[in-house]
Amino acid sequence: MAKQQFQTEVGQLLYLMTHSLYSNKEIFIRELVSNSSDAIDKLKYLTLTDESLKSLEWTPQISISFDKDDKSLTIVDNGIGMDETDLINNIGTIAKSGTKSFVEKLTGDAKKDSNLIGQFGVGFYSVFMVADYVDVITKKAGSEQAYKWSSDGRGEFEIKPVTKESQGTVIYIKLKDDEVEDFASKHRIETIIKKYSNHIAYPIFLNYKEEVENEETKEKTLESKKEQINAATALWTLPKSKVKPEEYNEFYKSISHDSSDPLLHVHTKAEGVNNYTTLFYVPQKAPFDMYRVDYQSGVKLYVKRVFITDDDKELLPTYLRFVRGIIDSEDLPLNVSREILQENRILANIKQSSVKKLLGEFKKLSEDKEKYEKFYKEFGRALKEGAYQDFTNKEAILELLRYKSTKVEGMTSFAEYKDRASTEQKAIYYIVGENEKILRSSPLLESYKKADIEVLILDDKEIDDIITPAFGAYQEWQFKDITSCEAPSTEQSEEEKKEIEEKYKSIVEKIKSNLGDAVKDVKVTNRLSDSPSCVVKDGNDPMASMAHMFRAMGQEMPESAPILEINPEHDIIKKLNGCADDSLIADISWLLLDNAKISEGIEIKDPIGFAKRLNSVMAKVF
Ligand code: ADP
Ligand code: MG
Repeated sequence: MAKQQFQTEVGQLLYLMTHSLYSNKEIFIRELVSNSSDAIDKLKYLTLTDESLKSLEWTPQISISFDKDDKSLTIVDNGIGMDETDLINNIGTIAKSGTKSFVEKLTGDAKKDSNLIGQFGVGFYSVFMVADYVDVITKKAGSEQAYKWSSDGRGEFEIKPVTKESQGTVIYIKLKDDEVEDFASKHRIETIIKKYSNHIAYPIFLNYKEEVENEETKEKTLESKKEQINAATALWTLPKSKVKPEEYNEFYKSISHDSSDPLLHVHTKAEGVNNYTTLFYVPQKAPFDMYRVDYQSGVKLYVKRVFITDDDKELLPTYLRFVRGIIDSEDLPLNVSREILQENRILANIKQSSVKKLLGEFKKLSEDKEKYEKFYKEFGRALKEGAYQDFTNKEAILELLRYKSTKVEGMTSFAEYKDRASTEQKAIYYIVGENEKILRSSPLLESYKKADIEVLILDDKEIDDIITPAFGAYQEWQFKDITSCEAPSTEQSEEEKKEIEEKYKSIVEKIKSNLGDAVKDVKVTNRLSDSPSCVVKDGNDPMASMAHMFRAMGQEMPESAPILEINPEHDIIKKLNGCADDSLIADISWLLLDNAKISEGIEIKDPIGFAKRLNSVMAKVF
């Protein structure tokens, strides 16, 4: 069969694999062994669910051999194998979102990019870090024909029909000259397997030759030996006390495509109504695909140690999509079909308890401020989603959220906010925007500062704007957006208020008519102290909350016109009140509106008009 080109991205990836000095080459063994283990998992599942494969007789295993003279290393499994289409799709193109995304991130800077390999663990192709060429001889379970895929990793691969007795895959690696010493070695292979793949659930055998001396003739011959080199117990089945921290960490790496240690793990064994084991990990860094629609689920489902699926995004709620790990149920039937999993009660129960357990673990983590800050930087956004989506656990999730504030440095929780507040306060005040600096100098904060009320600074507008109003209340304290709620009450009496309104009535009318549709209303209030004006949203406008809802569903909606509030104590307003120059009043009306918007970080509609008016007003000063 003719040679075929690798998909361009694979080419790029391979170039990188072969040309960058990657310091941790040994991980290719972990990647290949993990593929073998996945392949056995898949076949095991089929032998339980697929009639035509039920009678297959096999003992799942992986074996490794090496030959120094031949400069080769071979990894064999009797898993599901691949047919021709599988070969092209799986190891000729980049089908997985993970690898795709990896390639998208490549910068062209070999040093940076080779660090990326570490972060992504790009699977099969890592073999080309050490290989001159690779043959993949494979036969898919249930099919007659076997194939050999070969490539030197330089842009092309070739597939030929071959004969092979039983199902499974042989990966024959012709080692580069300077890798032979390193990898065609019994000791080295053993060490690598113990380190990365000790708790792969299937036995891994190492074939090697040993010199033996005949006792009588003293003749030395080479004898073939076969030795199991891994523990082959699924790690999660062991009691916690029997698992060392390094073992937890290595197991995480073997299932997660991550080369860093996890931030934490939670290992739970439940007995009673439901019998199951879960082993969850939280990575140190958010998975690269966390905000992609086609993110990969990080949780694998097993039933009595038999792998069922790693492609079920319902095993945990979406907001916990950064969690990696294993769920192993004792109660589900072994031949459970992936389709019926969705409605399964047992699974729903496991999910519910797992969420509670994980949230509890995050709470514990929050006691260590420094560690929690790191965690929150990576996953805070996801938790906010949770507070929005997961009604049952809303209280627990709200406890985990942290925000910037006008009263403290760093981040604060709602509980701490409440503790600091005065006894009269009954709400949690916040302001949302894109830029912390602008938010902190917003004129809207003036009255809160004066009244000594803490305001939370929410500067992740994209998410905070939509999600925070949905929180409702935290321990009966309503959440209030200060851009749309009444200013805190001050000592002003009703009469005083009326009096001021009366005094400014005519100028307010003039400003209103100058601004027309650009404002919903103009009011004199005592919200401000230093600034002449500010804009607020109408908290009681049903159209505004509708628009908000649509925005939350991802629709573009125009912002409705704001209310302009002016400060009767400010010089500009005082002087404007007695002004007789109508064109000056018109210019200043617009300047008051645009100025207020700019100081609140809101884009102004007509910057050219703004500049013109400012110039015309400045000209009049002299
Ligand atoms: P991943 O394991 O994350 O899917 P890899 O690059 O390691 O990515 O492997 C790509 C694909 O090639 C696998 O998903 C699998 O379909 C196929 N594959 C690799 N090795 C084997 C194997 N030993 N047996 C069967 N299929 C394999
Ligand atoms: Mg893999």
